[in-house]
Amino acid sequence: MNQKVRLRYAPSPTGFLHIGNARTALFNYLFAKHYHGVFVVRIEDTDLKRNVEGSVASQLDNLLWLGIEPDETIDKPGAYGSYRQLERLELYQKYAQELLTMKKAYYCFCTPEELEKNREAQLSKEHLSPHYNRKCWKLTQTVIVEKLSQKIPYNLRFFVPDEATYNFNDLVRGAVHFKGKDLGDWVILKSNRIPTYNFAVVIDDMLMEISHVVRGEEHISNTPKQLMIYEAFKAQPPVFAHLTLIVNEQHKKLSKRDGHLMQFISQYRTFGYLPAAIFNFISLLGWSPIDTTEIFSHDELIKIFDETRFSKSPSMFDVKKLTWINNYYLKQMSDEEYLAFVRPFLAAEYDLTKKTAAWINMLLLIYKKELQYGTEIVALAKPFFEPITKLSSATQAMLTKLSGYEAMITTFKTGLTDIADWTEINIKELITKTGDQYVVKGNNLFMPIRIFTSHQEHGPELTKIIYLLGKEQVISNITKLQ
Ligand code: GLU
Repeated sequence: MNQKVRLRYAPSPTGFLHIGNARTALFNYLFAKHYHGVFVVRIEDTDLKRNVEGSVASQLDNLLWLGIEPDETIDKPGAYGSYRQLERLELYQKYAQELLTMKKAYYCFCTPEELEKNREAQLSKEHLSPHYNRKCWKLTQTVIVEKLSQKIPYNLRFFVPDEATYNFNDLVRGAVHFKGKDLGDWVILKSNRIPTYNFAVVIDDMLMEISHVVRGEEHISNTPKQLMIYEAFKAQPPVFAHLTLIVNEQHKKLSKRDGHLMQFISQYRTFGYLPAAIFNFISLLGWSPIDTTEIFSHDELIKIFDETRFSKSPSMFDVKKLTWINNYYLKQMSDEEYLAFVRPFLAAEYDLTKKTAAWINMLLLIYKKELQYGTEIVALAKPFFEPITKLSSATQAMLTKLSGYEAMITTFKTGLTDIADWTEINIKELITKTGDQYVVKGNNLFMPIRIFTSHQEHGPELTKIIYLLGKEQVISNITKLQ
């Protein structure tokens, strides 16, 4: 690419970083970085009623946590003025004025009530998408001056010629066409002097020299309105890529109201997912590399990013896959990194003050292979802090299936009592000795011992479980089941 590559993520601060927003940010970021370009984060806060306190800071914090670092943003500005739209109002007003002078925009003094009445009238005549009736387009200069002097509130509207067509080549969809007569004259500046999204976004993208815009498909129908502003200012529009929907496992569009599914990055962060795993997972939502590998680091993704490989069909938000990827990344960590990461989740739930570091580390490490996310350690480690008082139905069913273990368990219990030095090796030797004595091995040996000592039918390495539970607890567990 020989042009200057500048992309932006332009969130409205209406809430926290959603998986869909994070995906938009990530693809703009990968695109920019792949071409050694610039990644901008601009805050689109002109919809005053929807702004949520604290969401800008939280979104930026979660982006950084994911490894999506803006080159230019509100607290790290480049040479393009403010990166917050409410601080750019004069610019929009100036450009709206130019459109007025060029007669591409006009004053509209219609009241909201009038507009609504007109809309309903059109709807009743089966106009499925009602348009402004252009009443004010016809006002004479004298009337306009008169109304302005009376301080009658007005919007500025863009005039969209019926015969105009708006075409663009979308990186995801290919050729897209819109007709002017289907669009209607739309408001660029509201009576409170605040621009509408479709107007402000173009002024900013134009002035910030944005070369490519990657965003969700819900913005396709906004694109023709944006194109007409570029055209009016004889500016080159960016290349657009409208990403396909993200759907849930029922193939329905992800809805923020769906409480069953965690959809905010901060939730995954709290649950102990790793930023690199989420970054990797999101990069595969609506995009795929040439080969079928699915594990990629941040830097590899920058290197292999290819804007021609966006998917044309919706992508599924598969939490199981995310969890699988997260588990993969956890396993890849060195033991030291893993312990440093998981220990706080354990410490937040249990009192570790009386435990030795060696005991804690061994406990955490026995779950390293299976741990899917940080907070899962709380449930896995529970029996080591709060003894199991009631067997699960699966454990009970397994115990019922076994037979002929009673004498062996009694001998094993005596053996445990006699262990003077509570070490893994001594426990292991006792298990082997007991097996030899009763001529049992494999499952017939390990399963009864596992259930009697730990009250669970599954778990990591048996000797380590027995060691970690401690002599007293293990003997008490056995006694309870005898
Ligand atoms: N503020 C818009 C949004 O959050 C940005 C859309 C765009 O990228 O143009 O959806």
